[in-house]
Amino acid sequence: MSIRANIETVKGKVAEACRRCGRGPGEVEIIAVTKTVDIQLIMEAIDNGITTVGENRVQEAWQKYQTIGQKASWHMIGHLQTNKVGRVLQFADLIQSVDSLHLAREIQRQAEKLRRVVAVLIQINTSGEETKFGFQPETASEAVEEIATLANIKVKGLMTIGAFLPDPEEVRPCFRMLRELRETIKTRIAGSVEMEVLSMGMTGDYEVAIEEGATMIRVGTAIFGSRG
Ligand SMILES: *Cc1c(COP(=O)(O)O)cnc(C)c1O
Repeated sequence: MSIRANIETVKGKVAEACRRCGRGPGEVEIIAVTKTVDIQLIMEAIDNGITTVGENRVQEAWQKYQTIGQKASWHMIGHLQTNKVGRVLQFADLIQSVDSLHLAREIQRQAEKLRRVVAVLIQINTSGEETKFGFQPETASEAVEEIATLANIKVKGLMTIGAFLPDPEEVRPCFRMLRELRETIKTRIAGSVEMEVLSMGMTGDYEVAIEEGATMIRVGTAIFGSRG
């Protein structure tokens, strides 16, 4: 397995998906999902053009950060407990997985202490699966409106994990829903939020996600191989 070749393959597919829907490949950022991946392999990915990594466990990410540091930008993409927020603010550039008001308020509290503004995405449960974290689409607009009032939080957009279905075409409605939700929210609270980011699409479905407007895709397996 060659990480360099895998990255080239993903980039090629991103470019093709962009061409199909009239977007520029520069509009889609590839986040390499590095959970369970060894530091050496992460460094190899960075040496081959990866600039941002996504981790879903705070402790694991923090350990890797001790070695890798600012050679990459770090995104938190997994469910975050409020007692880990302080740690996350020490290394993460974007928290993609804000899935409750409780968590948002804790991020605000800690960010204010640090006199920083923290960039976040609001996670939406577009699949309706009970096991998935995220705001329900029906309550998302109100939640974003509330979070947008927190002075030390900058809402950059929305994130979702699509339904776990074998055919990516079946996941398309989840991605479409996220894009439409973004438009609804932008109209409703014009001015106070940017909402330019749509983080959606993983190894099995990122091409469809790009067709539906993804600006960030989170890809693990296609770059590093199966996590076993
Ligand atoms: C693991 C994970 C991914 C990457 O999944 P792959 O199928 O390996 O590409 C993306 N997003 C989140 C939130 C994840 O936990």
